[in-house]
Amino acid sequence: MWRHMVAGGRAVVLGGGIAGLCAAQALMRRFDDVVLVERDRFPDGPKWRRGVPHSGHAHNLFQSGLAALERLFPGIEDELVAHGIRRVRMPDDVLLLTPGGWMRRFEGRHVMLTGSRELLDWVVRTRIETGGRARIRDGCEVTGVRVDAGEVTGVEVRERNANGDGWGEPAQLAADLVVDATGRHSRAAEWLRRWGYGVPQETVIDSRTVYATCVFKRPDTHDADWESVLIQATTDAPQAGILIPLEGDRWLVSLALVGADRAPAGVKEFREVAERMRSPIIAEALEKAEPLTPVSAYGVTENRWRRFDALDDFPRRLVLVGDSAGYLNPSYSQGVSVAARTAVALDRALAEAPTLDAAVTALREEAGRIFQPAWKLSVGSDLRWLPAVRLPLRGRILQWYMQRLVEVAAHHRRTALALLDALHMTGADTALFHPAVVLAVLRGARGGDVFPTPKPVRRPGKPGDQPGDQARRTT
Ligand SMILES: Cc1cc2nc3c(=O)[nH]c(=O)nc-3n(C[C@H](O)[C@H](O)[C@H](O)COP(=O)(O)OP(=O)(O)OC[C@H]3O[C@@H](n4cnc5c(N)ncnc54)[C@H](O)[C@@H]3O)c2cc1C
Repeated sequence: MWRHMVAGGRAVVLGGGIAGLCAAQALMRRFDDVVLVERDRFPDGPKWRRGVPHSGHAHNLFQSGLAALERLFPGIEDELVAHGIRRVRMPDDVLLLTPGGWMRRFEGRHVMLTGSRELLDWVVRTRIETGGRARIRDGCEVTGVRVDAGEVTGVEVRERNANGDGWGEPAQLAADLVVDATGRHSRAAEWLRRWGYGVPQETVIDSRTVYATCVFKRPDTHDADWESVLIQATTDAPQAGILIPLEGDRWLVSLALVGADRAPAGVKEFREVAERMRSPIIAEALEKAEPLTPVSAYGVTENRWRRFDALDDFPRRLVLVGDSAGYLNPSYSQGVSVAARTAVALDRALAEAPTLDAAVTALREEAGRIFQPAWKLSVGSDLRWLPAVRLPLRGRILQWYMQRLVEVAAHHRRTALALLDALHMTGADTALFHPAVVLAVLRGARGGDVFPTPKPVRRPGKPGDQPGDQARRTT
C-alpha cells in the first residue's frame, strides 16, 4: 500500500498559510501529486491578504522554527536575510525588560528572525511555486471532506469566479491523504461529529489580551546598539510591548494589552499607551519616528487546544497541522515554529513509518508532542491573569517556580540561557530544572554566575528603566 502511495498517490493540502506551505513541501518529497487549495487568490508579492488577517502584527521566528524551515527549504534563512529580514541575537541585540528588571545583555546563542510575516510567507510560497511539484489552486475554497468506511478519500472544492465576487459549482477532488491547514477556523471537529466520531476535548485559556500594531519609519538618526525592544507585562502593569526591525528600514511595534476592552484608537493614543508602560523606552524611540500605517487591532488571542491527538478513533488519511489543531496567545511567538516543526515531523513520519496509515497515526501523536511545550509556556504565563483558575498543588508550585525563574533570568546568565532555550524550543524541558538553575531560582540569583550589579536606575519612579545601562554591553 505504501509503495502505491509513493508511486502515484495524491496529497491535498487545505489552506495555503505557513502551515499548509510547509506541509506541502514535506509532502512533495513523498507524493507524486500534491495539490494545495487556498481560498484567497495569492497576491503577486509580499502583501496582506484576507485569509491571514493577523499577518500585519509582530511575527518573530524563533530558533527551532528557523531550523525546521531551513530543513524543509535549504538556504531559506540566507534568502530571507537577502530580502531584508533581520537576524536578531538574543539577548545580545535586545533590550528585554522582564518582570525581574532588564535582562543583562551578553553574547548568547539564540537568534530570532524578524521581518514582515507577508515577506516570510511570500518567500516560502515562491519556493513551492518554483519547486514545480505542487499544484497550487488559489481562489479555490474547500467546502467539505469526503470519508468512506473510515477513510478520507477526497475533498469538495469550488472555484472563485473570474470577477472574484462569487463561486462556481462544487467539484470533487480525490485524495490519498488530506492535510487540514485551514487555521484557527478549521471545521475538522465539526466534520468528525458529522461522520460519527468523538469530538476532541478542547481547552481554552483566554487572558483577554488585545493586540495593537503600528509600523513606523526607522528614524535616520537612530544609532543605538540594540535591534529590538521587548517589555514584558507584570500583574501590576499588564501591558507588554515589542519593537522589531522590519525590512525596508521600518520598525513594527505591537502592544499586547491584557484585559483591555479595546485597542488604542489612533497613533496618538498608541504613543500615549507606550509612554505609560513599565518603561517608556519604546515611546521614546518612536518620538522621531514617522508612522507609516494606521493602528491595527487583533483581539482573538486565547490559547486553544483541540485534542485530536488524544482521540482513539480517528478517520484514516487525515492530518491536522498548524493552528487548525490548536493555537496560542501570540505574545509568545510560537505558532510559526510549531507549524514548521510539525511539517518536519510529517516528513519524518512519511519516511520512517511502514505504511501511510502508520505515518498518519505517528504524526498525529507527534504533533501533540510538538505543541505541548509551547502550550505549557504560553498557558503557564497566561494563568497569571486568571487567578480564578484553581490549579492543583503541583501546578501552583510550578507556576511559582516559573515566575521566579523569569525574574532571576534577568540577572543570572545560566538561568537566562535556560529560559531562552525554552522560548526558542532549543533545549530539553529539563534545562529549566538543572541544579544550577534551581539553586539560582531558590536563592534569588545570589552567587554563582550572577551578572555584575546594575548601575543605579536613571529614572526614579519608572521601575526598571535603565536604557543607558543597556547601551553598555555586558559580556
Ligand atoms: C497577532 C498575532 C501575532 C502572532 N505572532 C507570532 C509570532 O511572532 N511568531 C510566531 O511563530 N507565531 C505568531 N503568531 C501565530 C501565527 O501567526 C500562526 O500560528 C500561523 O499563522 C498559523 O498558520 P496556519 O497556516 O496554521 O494558519 P493561517 O495562517 O490562519 O492560514 C490558514 C489558511 O487557510 C486558508 N483557508 C481557510 N479556510 C479555507 C477553506 N475552507 N478553503 C481553502 N482555504 C482555506 C486561509 O485563507 C489561510 O490562507 C501570531 C498570531 C497572531 C494572531
